[in-house]
Amino acid sequence: MDNCIFCKIIEQEIPSYKIYEDEAVYAFLDISQVTPGHTLIVPKKHVTDIFSYDEELASQVFARVPKIARALEAAFPDMQGLNIVNNNKELAYQSVFHSHVHLIPRFDQEDDFSIHFSNNFERYTTEELTEIAAKIAKQVK
Ligand code: AMP
Ligand code: ZN
Repeated sequence: MDNCIFCKIIEQEIPSYKIYEDEAVYAFLDISQVTPGHTLIVPKKHVTDIFSYDEELASQVFARVPKIARALEAAFPDMQGLNIVNNNKELAYQSVFHSHVHLIPRFDQEDDFSIHFSNNFERYTTEELTEIAAKIAKQVK
């Protein structure tokens, strides 16, 4: 797609630090290197975000994630963990609108990546959670 920075990387029109490529995906270092080895996996097909994946594309992209995860683990013997992040739409911190999966190796608690999960369990009744689950379940197609 014109004017998409990740399409240009896939087409080798602009440089990248390539890690892996096959018919479906391209993996390369994220230039921000949140932690050492921070890698992006992108589908070669331009899709904006997760809402545009069909099952075939999803199985192609997400099937490659463990392969790159294991490569990071082997490459960084001091790696203690791995966060896999996929941001969708601007509110959720997506800044490049060609879908991508971040693999962020973790080394220690002060390694420059953080994520905060609140626990709001006490704000909901059993009935409310049942209703929320049913509302979503009805839309699964
Ligand atoms: P997100 O905010 O989830 O959309 O992530 C986009 C990521 O793309 C950011 O972490 C950027 O550092 C990264 N990025 C942007 N341009 C490039 C580039 N030319 N090469 C490698 N990574 C890039
Ligand atoms: Zn693109």
